[in-house]
Amino acid sequence: MLETIVGALGLVFGSFLNVCIYRIPRGESIIFPSSHCPNCGRKIRWFDLIPILSFIILKGKCRYCKSPISPLYPAVEAVCCLLAIASTRVYGLSVSAFLLFLIGCILIYISVVDFKTYEMSVTSILLLAILKFGFEVSLKGVLKTSMTFVVLGPILNALLVGLIYLITRGNAMGLGDVLLLMAGGVGFTVRQAIVCNFVAFLVAFLYVLGLKLVQSILKGNEKKREIPFGPFISIGIFVSTVAGERIADLYYQLIIVR
Ligand SMILES: [Zn+2]
Repeated sequence: MLETIVGALGLVFGSFLNVCIYRIPRGESIIFPSSHCPNCGRKIRWFDLIPILSFIILKGKCRYCKSPISPLYPAVEAVCCLLAIASTRVYGLSVSAFLLFLIGCILIYISVVDFKTYEMSVTSILLLAILKFGFEVSLKGVLKTSMTFVVLGPILNALLVGLIYLITRGNAMGLGDVLLLMAGGVGFTVRQAIVCNFVAFLVAFLYVLGLKLVQSILKGNEKKREIPFGPFISIGIFVSTVAGERIADLYYQLIIVR
């Protein structure tokens, strides 16, 4: 019962996150006007705004002008729903669970906006740093929260990409990537920073590999599109925040101690 409510709240929040993702980078208000089709401008009625369900019923098209609706909308809602359920499963109904959910949401926001526009806003990165600090404190308490890692975590986490940024003079990695790693690294231990970077590069590598495979199968004209690194860093930050220490332990058990 609890998970159904939490999941439903996650869906509703995901729907709101979609509004933020669409409107904030355009400098529009997230409250007024009410939702409208970006193509024909018709106001979208409440029964067409039900998360995921409306997308399926409308077959991914606007009710009036039949222009396609991006599948990113229901995807964001679905991920938010799972995120809400997973956060409460790990931390129960607590401040930590809520903060972890918000960390996930801001990472989704940063990822989708970076994917679409190749840009990251400083405000969203700053918000991530504050949420990560709050999450650390909620888990360990103010006194036990190691200030060492609050300060050192960001430096450790951004070390590798920061060096790549400096050596390539910003051609391979952007300043946004470095700042995102710093914000996500608040409270990270050395092990968590390593896991975060490892996961980010691994997922990016698999993504590029998959993309090349699909392109070779379809034999379509290769569109040379730059790949934003933000989404992969976001995945690394989230995975390491939740399970960085455990993944490091597992690694030691599997490889070092034999
Ligand atoms: Zn329309």
